[in-house]
Amino acid sequence: MTLHITANTAVCIGAGQCVMAAPDLFDQEEHGTVIVLEDEVPADELALVREAAYLCPSRAITYTETSAT
Ligand code: SF4
Repeated sequence: MTLHITANTAVCIGAGQCVMAAPDLFDQEEHGTVIVLEDEVPADELALVREAAYLCPSRAITYTETSAT
């Protein structure tokens, strides 16, 4: 199982909670907008991804579980 992470930069307000929660997965560009560093991660990182998505005040981070092929 793999997690596919997406971040909606149109609604990101640059709060940075995602970066604090999961610095290996997210970064911010110059003006604060989120950058997804790793958009495919193993399912064992679900707790981290879930926390980042939960903490995001603008609900910009979403993820789906996909079966690895
Ligand atoms: S926590 Fe949400 S609003 Fe803040 S930088 Fe990350 S994606 Fe953007």
